[in-house]
Amino acid sequence: MMRRKLAAGNWKMNGLSTDLAELDRLITRHAAPAVDLLLCPPATLLAAASARLGNHPLLIGGQDCHAAASGAHTGDISASMLADAGARAVILGHSERRQDHEETDQMVRAKARAAHAAGLTTVICLGESLDEREAANTLDIIGGQLSASVPDNSTGENLVIAYEPIWAIGSGLTPTLDQIGEVHDFIRTRLERRFGAGVGRSARLLYGGSVKPENAAEIFTISNVDGALVGGASLTADDFSAIITAL
Ligand code: PEP
Repeated sequence: MMRRKLAAGNWKMNGLSTDLAELDRLITRHAAPAVDLLLCPPATLLAAASARLGNHPLLIGGQDCHAAASGAHTGDISASMLADAGARAVILGHSERRQDHEETDQMVRAKARAAHAAGLTTVICLGESLDEREAANTLDIIGGQLSASVPDNSTGENLVIAYEPIWAIGSGLTPTLDQIGEVHDFIRTRLERRFGAGVGRSARLLYGGSVKPENAAEIFTISNVDGALVGGASLTADDFSAIITAL
């Protein structure tokens, strides 16, 4: 099964309109990319970012959505609103949202169901804490998050899983290549068991957590790593471009 590689950037709560110059530089440098590209700027920049793409295949994505289609949810954004602003994908269940907004697996699953219904690809994030890893509970935690966060209506096209150890995000620390491989193989097996070989083998699995130009190439040699979800190093075209080239 040939899965297209995917380099996804998460700008988090960073970026003003002037920073879209980095997006311009990125799409100029990768005019005909050999891999899929996704950039998730803050919601305030979605429409402007989409408008700058022209015919470029880079996808723009949101960083969260509400589970409801519309209604009395001040400050929230629905999946169809993301799509209306030009988004084709959305990151869900990022550990910062699980921590800062007490998002549970059940909430992530409901959001993912809504996102799929709106035609968005979901990048569903899973990851263990340092305590959980040190207690040798990583696979139990990942298995639990995977089965509870991923909705039944997932397909090989609309489901991307990002394995992001919480302790590796923004810390400069990364798991060993064997540790990353173990978790990715585990997720692949679980997806195949639940959804069958078709969906299970075509959903893409990203590694995320301190991916940089310096370590990207070796991480991309790991089987079942189909790309990366990149935070800090996606903020500049120079760094993100180097990671894309390594893929
Ligand atoms: C992230 O926010 O998803 C992430 C992986 O961040 P960083 O690359 O900065 O560790």
